[in-house]
Parts: sequence; structure tokens; C-alpha cells
Amino acid sequence: MALQNSADAELLLHWYQKNKRSLPWRDTGNPEDVWISEIMLQQTRVEAVKEYFVRFREALPTLEAIAACPDETLLRLWEGLGYYTRARNIKKCAQVLLRDHGGELPVDPLELRELPGIGPYTAGAIASIAYNVPVPAVDGNVLRVFSRLTACEDDIMEPATKQAFTERLQDLLWQLVYADWKNFPVADFNQALMELGALVCIPNGAPLCERCPVAAQCDGRRLGIQETLPRRAPKKPRRDEVRTVLVLRDGERFYVRQRPSKGLLAGMFEFPGFPGTLSEEEVLKLVHERGFTPLRIQALPPFHHVFTHIEWHMSAYEVQIAEPLSATAPGRNRKEHARNGIFVTRAELEKLALPSAFRPLLSRYALRPPRRQKKC
Ligand code: SF4
Repeated sequence: MALQNSADAELLLHWYQKNKRSLPWRDTGNPEDVWISEIMLQQTRVEAVKEYFVRFREALPTLEAIAACPDETLLRLWEGLGYYTRARNIKKCAQVLLRDHGGELPVDPLELRELPGIGPYTAGAIASIAYNVPVPAVDGNVLRVFSRLTACEDDIMEPATKQAFTERLQDLLWQLVYADWKNFPVADFNQALMELGALVCIPNGAPLCERCPVAAQCDGRRLGIQETLPRRAPKKPRRDEVRTVLVLRDGERFYVRQRPSKGLLAGMFEFPGFPGTLSEEEVLKLVHERGFTPLRIQALPPFHHVFTHIEWHMSAYEVQIAEPLSATAPGRNRKEHARNGIFVTRAELEKLALPSAFRPLLSRYALRPPRRQKKC
């Protein structure tokens, strides 16, 4: 049966008005807030995004400020959220909006999809939430809710399943809008579906059906299969990568280098890392080969970091080196960073975009004076 008409939609909308969470980007009336929050929310939990969103908007409250923001500041504001390409795309998108769209986000979802970083879901979310355009916004929450409501046993990771849900929701939206021409609150309806998935029709096999405003309309519940839905093919296991990370110290300064502009953690700074688990001798040889003179070496406890598709298992060494002749100052161009790396103080390190993968080194070891190290 699922959702079929205005009466069903009304149940959902009524529940949403009473239960929606207060979120910093919700009901602000500013389309840019919808856009930035939707980009931040990709692959990221609402609770984690709240603080980042507020900080980002305080630092960059206008399109002009975003478009002109230096990459390093942008990445710093994004540090810890992951998927840094999203931050770069926000900046590119702001530049395109200023250049080609009079400084406004388009209303048309097809035009929105032409913009950097905006795919079908985000275009639907911006158009419907910011402008009340009757288009669906099918995210993970909506996929789960809809597969349960319709008792659909198809794999929700398959594009064909998502497409079928999108088409059914589009048909439903047209029907609701025609029934209440111009007054139907598409923005609230789409957010209500998402909110239902976040608060009631929750993942991992345990929906809270007794609290659900559309339980009577739910085919999955009627058939008693709601806890087995949605169906999805098993995920590929993460790839393990073993690395050795070096904290090279020249007195109170640390050596960091900038990662390539494409790929994992693109453009961010890092402590240099090498594949495999290296011995002290191998580390010292590498340090020599790079033109540094090691004075002392100390093994640090291993640590690890989990990305979506990769897990880094890292061993680490702190190596005290003689002062290098060609330490590059911060703020030089990217090519120079990539080639030479830079030496920065602890305070300067805090201002760089350093991935959270390396934070354990900073917080646990890098502030300690280089004691109890073995002489080389
Ligand atoms: Fe989800 Fe249960 Fe509501 Fe069905 S009745 S939509 S399974 S919470």
C-alpha cells in the first residue's frame, strides 16, 4: 500500500512538524545553507556536521568569501570531515555561481546538476528544500524508508532500484502537488521522509514501528519483514595498507610535505610516510638519502586510521635531525611544498590542513621534547 495520497502525506507532515530536529541549516530560508549542509552531510553523520557547518558559515558567510578563500584555509575548516574534494568543489561552485548565475543557486534541478560537486540527490535536495520544487531527494534514509514502506526486496545499492524509487516518489509528488496546487510543502515532505529514516525507521534491523506515523501504510511491517529490509549486497572489505610514518624534527620544527593535488587527502599536509613496516636502519637510510642528517631516532607506538575503502596501519618513528640548509618557509607555492616539504613550528602545524589520520602523532608525541632517543 505504502504512501498513496494526501491523507498519508498529511500523517507524515504532521509528525515532522512535531518531531523535526533543530539543525543550524534548517529553516534558515537561505538556499546556500541547504547547499553547504547537503554537501557536508554526504557520507557524514548529522551530529558530526553541525559544528563544522556553524564554523564554516561563520568564517565564510557569503559566496564571495567562499570563492576567494585560500585552499589552505578551506581545508583547515574542513579538517576532520574527510572527503576533502567536497570542500574544493564548494569553492569551485561558488566561483561558477558568481560568474554564471548572478550569485544565486539555480532553481532548476537540471541546472543545479551542472555545478561542481552537485549530483542528482543534492540537486533534488536543494531544489525541493530551498525552492519547494516538486522533485524527490533520495538519500540513504529515504532508500531505507521506501524499501520498507513498499516491502521492496531489491538491492538498494543497485542504481536501477534507486531509479525505480525516484520515479515512484516523483509520481507521488506530482499527485500531491496537483491535489493541493502550489500549496503542497514539498520541502517539508522530503525532509520528513529523511527525518523518519533518521529518527524512527532507523538502520541496522530495528525500526521503531510503534512510533511511526505511517505504520498503517507500511507493507514491510504488514508482512513482518521490515527488519530484514533494506536488502543490500555485502560491502567489499576495506583494503589494508601498512605504512611507516616519520616525524622528522629539527629542534622545535617539524617536517611536513603536501600530498598530490588528486587522490586520497589531496592537497593536505602530512608527515612523510613510506610503504611497509621499516626498521630503524631502513628509516635512517631513507632520511640520509633525502639529504638530512639524523641525530637520534625513537620508535613511537603504532596507530591506525580507517578511511571508507582503506585502512592505514602505521608504525612511526621520531627522528631528530641536524638543522637542514634548505628548510622552506611556510606559504611557498605548492610545487615547492611537494618537492621539498616544509619545516614548521608546532603552532604553525596547528594552522595547516593536517588530516586527522596524523592527529595521534601530534597529540601524543610531537609536543614532547626529544628525550630518551637512541643516538645515531
Ligand atoms: Fe519503517 Fe516501521 Fe514505519 Fe514501516 S512502520 S516505515 S518499517 S518505522
